[in-house]
Amino acid sequence: MPMETSAFKNAMKQFDAAARFMNLTEDQIVMIKEPRRVTVVKLPVRMDDGRIEMFKGYRVQHNVARGPAKGGIRFHPDVTVDEVKALAFWMTYKCAVVNIPMGGGKGGVVVEPSLLSPGELERLARRYFAELMDVFGPDRDVPAPDINTNPQIMAWMMDTYAMHHKDFVPAVITGKPLELGGSLGRMSATAQGMVFCVREAAEKLNIDLKTASVALQGFGNAGSFAVKLLREDGCKIVAISDISGGYYNRGQGISVNEAIDYVREHKSLKNFDKHTDVKKYKDPMQLLEEEVDILIPATLENQITEDNAERVRPRVIAECANGPCTVEADAILEKNNVFIIPDILCNAGGVTVSYLEWVQNRMGYYWEADRVQQDLHRIMVKAFEDVYQTSLRHKVNMRIAAFIIGIERVTRAAEMRGLYT
Ligand code: NAD
Repeated sequence: MPMETSAFKNAMKQFDAAARFMNLTEDQIVMIKEPRRVTVVKLPVRMDDGRIEMFKGYRVQHNVARGPAKGGIRFHPDVTVDEVKALAFWMTYKCAVVNIPMGGGKGGVVVEPSLLSPGELERLARRYFAELMDVFGPDRDVPAPDINTNPQIMAWMMDTYAMHHKDFVPAVITGKPLELGGSLGRMSATAQGMVFCVREAAEKLNIDLKTASVALQGFGNAGSFAVKLLREDGCKIVAISDISGGYYNRGQGISVNEAIDYVREHKSLKNFDKHTDVKKYKDPMQLLEEEVDILIPATLENQITEDNAERVRPRVIAECANGPCTVEADAILEKNNVFIIPDILCNAGGVTVSYLEWVQNRMGYYWEADRVQQDLHRIMVKAFEDVYQTSLRHKVNMRIAAFIIGIERVTRAAEMRGLYT
């Protein structure tokens, strides 16, 4: 049911909600609201049984006024052009909120990667990059991992580009393995950035993280690191979920390390309740209604809608996922005093360290983990404070405040560049 809402329509409504507080002209809006380039590719792949299967892929560049497009590539059976356009839109404003010199892009392939062999997956990844060779480039469009893509896939994509260009070009993609120009701290960057934001929010709202309770939807790359870090801050993790279902233990909390080990061994949380001291929800969406201090959605878009928002009552929602709340849900959550750390701020740690990886690739000089961590901390804390102060100044919620900052920065860049005719 939640997937029925159009992610792109929701993104456009978010833009309009922020634009109402700004005196934008029609010309300004037309320059920055909609995506600039949408590329659709068909990807023939030789399967292990000898037949050819045709996949569909997308790359959207939403806006490149402030720098090369930046944004991940998602492999998922439900990928649509509507979703990729929304994700590219959020990347434009995310890069602007944390003030890194990048624009917004996103890619996707319609595929269930768990059904492919490693060889089929590699051929699909390489074909996707080869078909979009003229779209990508270190100064043009720099992708990264997203749902179901990882450093190995980034390595295959970089190698495909390198073979065509007869050069080693690590800056064409980020989220690479360390051996191929990846950055220390990239794997945990999204979660780490989110935790920096949660700490700032906790301070503003007088929440003691040592006694705070947390529920996480989506125990994947970003989500599992997030609860590991919050556990280290003292939080009790009372519920986690993945595609196999939702699991909770309100009394003792869930051992995050045990869950991580379990997933390493079994590939998912399936049957986690049979092996440990946790219970399984009948409906995994119940997790969102758990009485906790901090709720972290870390799966897909449109999880909190007008259908369930009234029952979603944490003190803070830290949006690790992109677009987990609809505009209609936002209004209900705001009425109920739920403090949202919006996606374009909350999960910006990933793109921030991707940018730092790109910088290191271009210098050919690589930093220690401490240096990356310090830069990430400085950038995230400043962005949080900017958004918080803007929300107080305009008397708006954190999402609208973040968009006000992002829209102002993108508009200024677009205007200074002028119109090439
Ligand atoms: P991932 O593929 O590693 O993890 C996704 C997790 O969600 C998996 O555990 C999967 O089983 C689970 N899941 C999928 N559908 C579910 C459902 N209906 N209910 C419960 N769990 C479900 O992906 P990721 O990289 O962790 O990304 C998660 C979210 O964070 C996405 O919205 C992504 O765009 C966003 N994000 C990720 C990064 C990053 O650096 N990885 C950066 C910014 C934003």
